[in-house]
Amino acid sequence: MKTRIKNLSILALVITVFGCDFVASSADSETSTNVSSVDSIVKQNPVKSILTAEEQADMSPDEIIGRLKKGNENFVSNNLTMRDHSAQRREATIGQYPKAIVLSCVDSRVPVEDVFDLGIGDIFVARVAGNIENKDIVGSMEFATAVAGSKVVIVMGHTSCGAVKHAIDNTDAASMNMNALQDLLDEIKPSMTNVETEGEKTSKNTDFTNLVITNNAKQTVEDIRKRSPKMAELEKSGKIKIVPAVYDMETGKVKFM
Ligand SMILES: [Zn+2]
Repeated sequence: MKTRIKNLSILALVITVFGCDFVASSADSETSTNVSSVDSIVKQNPVKSILTAEEQADMSPDEIIGRLKKGNENFVSNNLTMRDHSAQRREATIGQYPKAIVLSCVDSRVPVEDVFDLGIGDIFVARVAGNIENKDIVGSMEFATAVAGSKVVIVMGHTSCGAVKHAIDNTDAASMNMNALQDLLDEIKPSMTNVETEGEKTSKNTDFTNLVITNNAKQTVEDIRKRSPKMAELEKSGKIKIVPAVYDMETGKVKFM
């Protein structure tokens, strides 16, 4: 009996941390009604090229952030750019010149490329539950910026983040033999300090949780600057920008801080 309860609590933890939900059926029916209109758009003029070295070199960090914001507007208004993936794949074998790297949570409800209306060759994407930084993530970011020429680093938290909620509620993952998950939750906890709230400091308090989610994205940006002198130097000289942001699961909108 004890084992059964333990297994159930592990299942509940996995579902909420990794954001599984079961609301796909309504989206499926909506999709089928839109198939013919999407088909006609695909036939019109899908994008066939990918970003070139020259295009990457010509964009400033602010210009890239502006394009990401515009892409997000397209996502919000359900107006994504159509792409010829076969043609783009063929072009992409030559090399890649992505304009940005986005660090996101692993949550399945945050489709990073779609959120910014982007496709093959446009951005690097790093993902870890709770969008925290670590040595490997920052190593990947150093490659993206200092080697591959990307000029913007976005750390993107999201509303209803299960990892942040479990950190707030002090979930004891270690007692369920998940020491690595415990370490991850512990990384998020400093983002709770100094957050003022009128209500209780639990994940049931949505305002408080959203403040911690925002703080966590900001904290990750600070941690990246500390861990990577190279990226801090690139940012100081204006060659890159490192920006926290939060994706709103309901509206699809990304708020840049
Ligand atoms: Zn999350």
